Amino acid sequence: MNTHPLNQRASDVDVDVAIIGAGPSGAVAAALLRKAGRSVLVLERQHFPRFSIGESLLPQSMVYLEEAGMLQAVIEAGFQYKNGAHFVWRDQSSSFDFRDKHSSGWGTTYQVERAVFDDLLIRCAAEQGAVVRFGHTVHAMQPGAAPTLDVTDEAGDAYQVRAQFVLDASGFGRVLPRLLDLETSTRMPSRAAIFTHVRDGIAPGVTDRNKICVATHPEHRDVWYWMIPLANGRSSVGCVAQASFLDCPEAEREAKLRALIRQEPTLGALIGDAPFLMPVNHIGGYSANVEWLHGPGYALLGNAGEFLDPVFSSGVTIALRSAHLAVQTLKRQFAGEAVDWRAEYDVPLRKGIDTFRAFVERWYTGELQDIIFYPHQTPQIRRMVCAVLAGYAWDESNPYVADPVRRLTALHEFCKSA
Ligand code: FAD
Repeated sequence: MNTHPLNQRASDVDVDVAIIGAGPSGAVAAALLRKAGRSVLVLERQHFPRFSIGESLLPQSMVYLEEAGMLQAVIEAGFQYKNGAHFVWRDQSSSFDFRDKHSSGWGTTYQVERAVFDDLLIRCAAEQGAVVRFGHTVHAMQPGAAPTLDVTDEAGDAYQVRAQFVLDASGFGRVLPRLLDLETSTRMPSRAAIFTHVRDGIAPGVTDRNKICVATHPEHRDVWYWMIPLANGRSSVGCVAQASFLDCPEAEREAKLRALIRQEPTLGALIGDAPFLMPVNHIGGYSANVEWLHGPGYALLGNAGEFLDPVFSSGVTIALRSAHLAVQTLKRQFAGEAVDWRAEYDVPLRKGIDTFRAFVERWYTGELQDIIFYPHQTPQIRRMVCAVLAGYAWDESNPYVADPVRRLTALHEFCKSA
């Protein structure tokens, strides 16, 4: 194949692995496959840099960036340092420092403008020899032992990619779940988010910029806000609720978000009148799932497989974990081993997703909020909860990972009765 790293030409091509989408999961998978000596073609329908939501990373994600050879570039990019999460509800607050956690490993990370971050990652993958075609959209796939993709470039020219394996990293585009009819029920209610960036103008020392702030609406416990301080005096601000709660004509979204921010005392004081730097965006129906995260000749990464909810900023971490695990599995397959994708990819990946699911579900019932704001938690239990919030949702030495539903239920009963 033509190995020019940013090849834009439409032409039929044979490649070891074709990747649909150049977001974080696609970029990290591409780099890891190049390290394993495989030829890689990434097909991305947009041009980078492009806006994406999902700006608060978790420390667990750093290990995958490091392994993909991207860590130095991320450190040097000047993103906002992050070391934890700060929760507020009415007059209660609770801060978690991710460096003080049960699991070993990274305790810090970054809050990133995704346009810059995603562009950086895919360029790192291209530097390692991945071929990236921007403005190329995947329209169809024939799965099987030698899968093919039908692709069109922006001039409307169509061509085929013949691969030994396809990784779908198309995020909310969910290319293969749509094309191959893989969608299944998510068990998550239909929630939505409205969000923007503000010039926050917050004076130094007024708030801890090194932490995401998650605030619960004073009256509605299932409505919450994020404030993610970014570099250069900007913050990302959004509100998540049942879709009907945020429903309004597009022209009224700005007023709606402004009014919601003013209803929450902490964010109201911090950014009540701060100028919005872009139109207020709306995204809804983002929770999604599939029966299996693999099939003949393909595997689904990141959001293309399953997406739960944004409350614990787990999306990019799950995306990078899936890329890492899929590439490890694929390497064994390429080496001629008999690979059981269900046992070696689906089941272990979903273990951590299910940990997050237990936390997310109890966030919305209010039980996890009771746990988070309980003032007399033992340091040991706090470190276990903190490890999951830092993204270590696959570390089964943590009882809240090994058996999250039973442990959280018991802990909530204890906090309520104490
Ligand atoms: P993406 O980053 O979505 O990349 C997919 C790429 O595929 C896109 O560039 C797209 O253009 C391309 N593509 C799609 N269709 C095609 C096609 N047919 N052909 C070619 N290319 C295609 N996560 C966090 O970690 N932290 C957060 O704070 C956070 N906040 C969030 C807030 C909200 C409201 C929501 C909805 C999500 C949030 N997330 C967060 C989740 C996060 O956005 C995603 O989990 C993450 O972007 C997934 O990465 P990905 O690589 O799977 O997909």
